[in-house]
Amino acid sequence: MRAVVYAGPHQVSVQQVPDPVISDPEDAIIKVTLSAICGTDLHPYRHEVPGVDPGTVLGHEYVGEVVAVGQGVRSFRVEDLVLGSFFAACGRCWWCRRGDHWQCESRAAFGYGSAFGEYLPGAQAEFLRVPHADTVLCHLPPGCPAEAAVFVTDVLATGFVAAERADMRPGDTVAVMGGGAVGQMASMACQALGAAAVVVADPLASRREMAAANGALSVSPGDARAVLDDLTENRGADVVIEAVGGAGPLESACALVRRRGTVVAVGVQFEATFPYPVARAFAGELSLRFATGNSIRVRDRLLRLVTSGVLDPTTIVTSRVKLDHVPGAYARFAEHQEVKVLVCNS
Ligand SMILES: [Zn+2]
Ligand SMILES: [Zn+2]
Repeated sequence: MRAVVYAGPHQVSVQQVPDPVISDPEDAIIKVTLSAICGTDLHPYRHEVPGVDPGTVLGHEYVGEVVAVGQGVRSFRVEDLVLGSFFAACGRCWWCRRGDHWQCESRAAFGYGSAFGEYLPGAQAEFLRVPHADTVLCHLPPGCPAEAAVFVTDVLATGFVAAERADMRPGDTVAVMGGGAVGQMASMACQALGAAAVVVADPLASRREMAAANGALSVSPGDARAVLDDLTENRGADVVIEAVGGAGPLESACALVRRRGTVVAVGVQFEATFPYPVARAFAGELSLRFATGNSIRVRDRLLRLVTSGVLDPTTIVTSRVKLDHVPGAYARFAEHQEVKVLVCNS
């Protein structure tokens, strides 16, 4: 089959790779009909992730059709239309039973080499092997567009989980750092959950316009504090969601939150430490939390939101490409010319 393969720093190519096969009774093989390029895919692209070696098939957001199932798969049969999760989890361990699937003892992330568990080839391909299919996959609900469902496999779940992790309440004033896909999804999720205002901060005008078109107040990062002060009688945001990643943005996020407020970091962090304002955090009783999307836990609710049209994630799609044009899309993505690219196999 053809697949998008990491070929070295800033290089991806479409290559012929072996078709996936059932290697465990709980596996399913799906024909990928729709996948996506994620901001997270830029980390391996830029060679920032140990464990992603040349030859790794990339991609972790996908919708498809089941073409084979192992003998242990109970919930799916050939021809079922499905969406998955960006990672695999067993569904049985202590963590999975709590609903903390991302912490599963046998977690593995699609398209991320061995960075987060056992190597699993990615979804920017014609076919995908899905381990623990009964846990990882779910049926595409009738009436749910595939293009909306593909967001539920990662970025919408991640934005929603950030709001959940912050204990965001109706009436809260929320700041979102970063207008990439996860930031845009966090903004939409917080609005759906009843935020009084969502302020999205991004240096790029195009991303600010996108956030504004989807109901947020959008600002340059340097103006965020002043806008939040106006909205909150100078208290600061009740909730800050950091959706860029790295130490600098996280430090900036901590400067926007009110006393007893919560900062949630969903942007990817690879640095060992960052300068945390400990004295201010103590005096102001700040909370700092981290979150990774758990589409397995939250997707039933999200699929209802997108199927009903309460929330339309497809408004942030900037390109639709065929598999052969994915390398060019990565290059544009790396230049901040894309927010969400869908990869259409059919
Ligand atoms: Zn993703
Ligand atoms: Zn588990």
